[in-house]
Parts: sequence; structure tokens; C-alpha cells
Amino acid sequence: MHDVTLIPGDGIGPSIADVAVKVIEAADVKIKWHAVEAGLPAIDKYKDPLPPHVLDSIRETRVALKGPLTTPVGSGFRSVNVALRKEFDLYVNLRPARSFEGVPSRYSNIDLIIVRENTEEFYAGIEHYIDPARSAAETIGVVTRSGSDRIIRYAYELARKEKRRKVTTVHKANILKYTGGLFLDVSRQIAQGYPEIKTEDKIVDNMAMQMVLNPHQFDVIVTTNLFGDILSDLASGLVGGLGLAPGANIGYNAAIFEAVHGSAPDIAGKNIANPAAIILAGVLLLRHLNEVAAADRIEHAVAEVIKEGKSVTRDLNATNCVGTKEMGEAIIARLR
Ligand code: NAD
Repeated sequence: MHDVTLIPGDGIGPSIADVAVKVIEAADVKIKWHAVEAGLPAIDKYKDPLPPHVLDSIRETRVALKGPLTTPVGSGFRSVNVALRKEFDLYVNLRPARSFEGVPSRYSNIDLIIVRENTEEFYAGIEHYIDPARSAAETIGVVTRSGSDRIIRYAYELARKEKRRKVTTVHKANILKYTGGLFLDVSRQIAQGYPEIKTEDKIVDNMAMQMVLNPHQFDVIVTTNLFGDILSDLASGLVGGLGLAPGANIGYNAAIFEAVHGSAPDIAGKNIANPAAIILAGVLLLRHLNEVAAADRIEHAVAEVIKEGKSVTRDLNATNCVGTKEMGEAIIARLR
């Protein structure tokens, strides 16, 4: 029996999270779900978007499945997503991009994983205007040897575990000679410990072009925070957009799995949201728990339902579609 924290989220979150839980249970994985509320529902109830008992639950279970959470623009509370990342030092942002037959996209048979550093460089929040007139602004990007070491090591270990053939380190060390240079230096050292995995490095601008021209040449891609943010969305674009994109934020003591898309307030409560991305986040969660057979079964069932195209939500088939719950039921019916 695994203990997993469940944060249903808000907007479309509770309805798609409910479908994901049902699909995971139908795959015969024994999970005790610890359901807790964060974000808007937690403000209503506890006057706190991230109440202490939510953090306590994740500390205890070390694994969470999370629905999307609305972040008010401008004023309002700080992003719960960012707060969770900081609280648990979730230094890995994992973003797989794979093709699904039946989803219109530029390429087929793409299967790549982007491993993005999640805590350092330009996202550490070290920025300011240099004077009251705001005549210039500075953002300081710090890259550390230890931060580079842990993310690059994670990428190689993942490649080894999943029997992937190649790791590509992406950088801009020709211009960012210190931050980029340090990251590249660490990656070359770590690569020596993984002789069975092909290693290469690419400068980020060339990488963007190569991903568009010939994405099949890549497998696992590891890079710093800003480049990872951009390239992971580029990769999602290659396989048909963010609609089916799962993601994970992983640290030494906790891992949080979620859909990449947001809370979609425009379609909340209508039973039309596509539950596939959060189900695929559940697949990543199951692999993290070493429930590999169940993960493969669910991923296969999702792929079959999408390929058939008859029991999918409106975003995948505008003329002949079913609701969120019904797509979940179709996926459960396909589990073998
Ligand atoms: P969004 O991803 O919620 O929606 C963008 C568009 O995609 C909308 O038209 C929406 O209807 C559609 N969409 C999204 N998910 C869908 C699904 N599963 N099925 C069908 N259509 C879907 O992005 P947004 O509108 O920019 O953000 C809304 C809120 O979500 C914001 O408050 C934002 O901060 C938050 N957000 C949260 C997360 C997270 O919790 N990880 C991630 C991104 C955005």
C-alpha cells in the first residue's frame, strides 16, 4: 500500500483529479489517498492558500498528485506552485513529450524527456531596479556546482533506469562563459560515469532549431532553468500542444506530479475538460513508486482511447466527443 497526498486543486482540477484517481485504482494499484485542499478552496476554508497540514501531509507521504491551482494575477496570494517547489526543494522539473496517434501534430513517434533545473539561475528571484526612476533592471542568475551536479546526475540516472540511449546537455557556454561554462563542465565530468549512454552537448539556439528540424535525434535533454522552461514547451508543441502534457517536480524528500495545463476556469464545472494530462501525470507517479506495470497499462489505455478518437473530450474531437467522466470510463474499459 502506498500513501499519496491528493490535492484536487480548483477550476477543472477536482473533476480531472477524480478521473485520474479512478483510473489508477482500476489498474489495481493499492494507494491510500490523503486528500487535502490548497489554493482557492483552502483560502475559503482556512484563510491560507497553503495550510500547514498540506505541507505536513506531503512531508509524511513524500508523494503528491496535484490538480491545477489558480494563481490570481497581480495582487492576491503568492503562487502555491512556486511555494511548494521552494518548500520541498524540488530541484527537478521533468517534462516528457511523446506523440499520441490521433492527435494532430507536426511529427509522429516522438518520445523525449526534458530534465529542467528547477531552483537556480534566473528563477531564484534575485532582481531589482537599479534606481527609483527604473532606468534599468538587473536579474542575477546563480548557477552552482552542487545544483548542476544533482540535476545532471538525475538526468543520467533516469537515462540508465529507462534504458535511454542519449543525454544532450543544453547550454550557452559560448556567451555565458561562467554560468553556462560551469554547467557544461559538470556535465562532462558526470558523463564519464555513464559510458553506456551516448553524451552530447548543444548550444541552446542551435538546439531549438534542431528540435524543430529533427526531434527524433534527441532522447533525454538536461538543461538550466530558463532554457528548460522554453524548450519543454517547444517539445510539447512538437507533439500537439500542452493538452496532453504531464509534468513532475521532484526533490530528495518529495515529488509532486501534475498536468502542465492550468485550472481552465473558462470550462470548469462543464464536464468537458480533458483528463488525459493528469492521468499521464499519474503514470509518472506510478513509475516513481516503481509500479511500472500499472503505469505502462494506463499509458497504453490512454493512447488507445486517443487513437480511436470516439471517447475523447471536445478538444481532441470537436464533432464527436464525450465528457470528462466518460473519457475516464473509456480509459478504464481499455485497461488490460
Ligand atoms: P490554462 O491551461 O488553465 O487554460 C488555457 C486554455 O486551455 C483554456 O482555454 C482552457 O480551457 C484550455 N484547457 C486547459 N486545460 C484543459 C483541459 N484539461 N481540457 C481542455 N481544455 C483545457 O491556462 P490559463 O488560462 O493561462 O490559466 C488559468 C489559471 O491556471 C491561472 O490562474 C494560472 O495561474 C493557473 N495555472 C496553474 C498551473 C498549475 O497549477 N500547475 C499551471 C498553469 C496555470
